[in-house]
Amino acid sequence: MPLITDSSKLTFGPIPSRRFGISLGVDLSPDSKQCNFDCLYCELKPAKTVSTMSEYPEVLAVIEAIEESFAKHPNIDVITVTANGEPTLYPFLDELIVRINSIKKDAKTLILSNGSTIYKKEVFEALLKFDTVKLSLDCISEKCFKKLDRINASVDCQKIVEAMAQFRLQSQNTMVLEVLFVKDINDAQEEIELLYQALTHINPHRVDIGTIDRPPAYKVQPVSYEALEAIAMQFKELNVNIAYKNRPKQTHKFSEEEIITMLKRRPLTLEDIENMFDEESRNLLNSLVKINKISLINCSGVDFYKIL
Ligand code: SF4
Repeated sequence: MPLITDSSKLTFGPIPSRRFGISLGVDLSPDSKQCNFDCLYCELKPAKTVSTMSEYPEVLAVIEAIEESFAKHPNIDVITVTANGEPTLYPFLDELIVRINSIKKDAKTLILSNGSTIYKKEVFEALLKFDTVKLSLDCISEKCFKKLDRINASVDCQKIVEAMAQFRLQSQNTMVLEVLFVKDINDAQEEIELLYQALTHINPHRVDIGTIDRPPAYKVQPVSYEALEAIAMQFKELNVNIAYKNRPKQTHKFSEEEIITMLKRRPLTLEDIENMFDEESRNLLNSLVKINKISLINCSGVDFYKIL
């Protein structure tokens, strides 16, 4: 598999346009899955969990590959550090991000991690150096963690939430948390309430919630869009972005009062508005933005309408 991948992201939605550019993917485990989780929903094949990477590219090789990509695509906007597995198991993550930051010019850096190593000092310090850190948090109870994420024995899941909260306090940059819901595994009310408590404690800039949308490693089922929407309603006052392919479109007319009430309960994304609001309501919403009754904020590439 290639160490580096380029991709162009497309804009979504009819309301304000945003510029998305070229995203450069850096895979720190290009040849095999190396992860301290073996999630039921993983898009990769099941694999024995590990606590460290044993096969990985040298820092210099990664930096040279990034420089080559910059020579071909000088307008790279985002460098996304990821892995076939867990990128924070890469033993030189801190050295790597320091080197990337020294050559990245105006590009932003993003890391996609399962969040399980954030309580380790060296990982915590390295993550602080990324512009955006996107971490998974599927469960809070140990039972759920073991069942859904099938964690390696080296992972102390009791330490993760507090370390994430500390990270949010110390980081100057953007923190996004992602929760993937699996039917009959982490969608019980008890687990959702624990997640909500943890999320409000951590206070990330954005929470992405989603479900399985590609063939999973094990036989598990997605939750419905309606279930995700009901969960989003419970995650009050957080910037919740529902990630769901082909979500149903059911547009309605809303009054100003209804729009304000809805946004007080939870901020809505451009995609929410597209799928829920009829044209008249969208116009009304935009007029409320113009007179500053409602704000439109961008959180790491996702626009939210919210009452500030
Ligand atoms: S953390 Fe990511 S790569 Fe690792 S098993 Fe889970 S889904 Fe797969």
